Amino acid sequence: MSVIELINRNIRQLEPYTLKTARAGVKLNQNENPFDIPHEVKNEILEEFKKKSWNRYPEVLPFDLIDLLAEYHHYPADGIIAANGSNELMYTVMMTLVSKGVKVLIPSPTFFLYEKGVRIMNGDVVHVMMKEDLAFDTEKILDAIQRENPRLVILVSPNSPTGQSISYEDIERILQGTRGLVLVDEAYIEFSEKRSVFDLLKHAENLILLRTFSKSFSAAGLRIGYLLTTPRLRAEILKPKIPFTVGVLAQIFVEVLFRHLDLVRGRIELIKSERNRLHAALQEIAGVRSFPSDSNFLLFQTKKTSQEIFDGLLKREVLVRDVSSYPMLDRMLRVNAGTGEENNAFLSALKTIV
Ligand code: PMP
Repeated sequence: MSVIELINRNIRQLEPYTLKTARAGVKLNQNENPFDIPHEVKNEILEEFKKKSWNRYPEVLPFDLIDLLAEYHHYPADGIIAANGSNELMYTVMMTLVSKGVKVLIPSPTFFLYEKGVRIMNGDVVHVMMKEDLAFDTEKILDAIQRENPRLVILVSPNSPTGQSISYEDIERILQGTRGLVLVDEAYIEFSEKRSVFDLLKHAENLILLRTFSKSFSAAGLRIGYLLTTPRLRAEILKPKIPFTVGVLAQIFVEVLFRHLDLVRGRIELIKSERNRLHAALQEIAGVRSFPSDSNFLLFQTKKTSQEIFDGLLKREVLVRDVSSYPMLDRMLRVNAGTGEENNAFLSALKTIV
């Protein structure tokens, strides 16, 4: 018997995480913040970091970080879990809720890691397609909830890779219309014009809210994400969680960055205005269709194949994301708002290609 046959069948059927990576001067492919943490702030963080014992484990849960988040959100610490990026928490939630035959409703297209988490746990994904214009189809989601009774509903809002959001009121209807839990991923909420569902945590017993420091807080490299939920659900989600996943540096980062929130807010405004400028400029290019976005990235479609556009841009040192393999996204690519200069480089390269 080959050792490969020892591997779980559902794992063998998966694909590893891959990303078309390439070195490019202009990197607009991962919805990152184009602005790094300024040197003075990095030094402030490093000075604190040097004072810590690196030979000792951090606490099993990052209690100081959780307290900072509790203060930031005015939310009880016993409803918060912090982790090594929100991706970790996606899997932790799946481990908590999903087993063979358990149904998870996932609007499609959306962030692929949710479906992967369900499949690892041997659950069943119930897909509900977006509308033709890629907006969430709330009525279809509510119908599918009635029909399938999923244990978990995933709502990424603003959604990736489409850039569109589902409204506060519609999420409220879904929370009330299901007997299952609802996970709302607000990774991009700081770039959105829509209201966060944070306030719904006060009333809803079945809401899990996911946030990250990877986007608006410029810290994708440090890996910090967290969830907010009721203390009862939090206690259960903590059970399968891997201990010690948040390092000392991550905790110090948040402590120092919270002293510089004006910097963060200013950058969010800049990114939003660059996103709007990009959208307007893309619409001006003949043969390009750009979708409206409530996030820090844009989805666009061209008459050429996505591969041709991806390769052409890369030849000109611009890296974007080819998302054409997602359902409904034929000939589409995703580009995140970079600095003004980076966006100009992208636009001029794209104009040459199309
Ligand atoms: N959720 C969504 C929908 C995302 O697109 C991303 C970025 N890839 C994240 C969360 C961020 O994950 P993390 O906090 O692990 O960086």
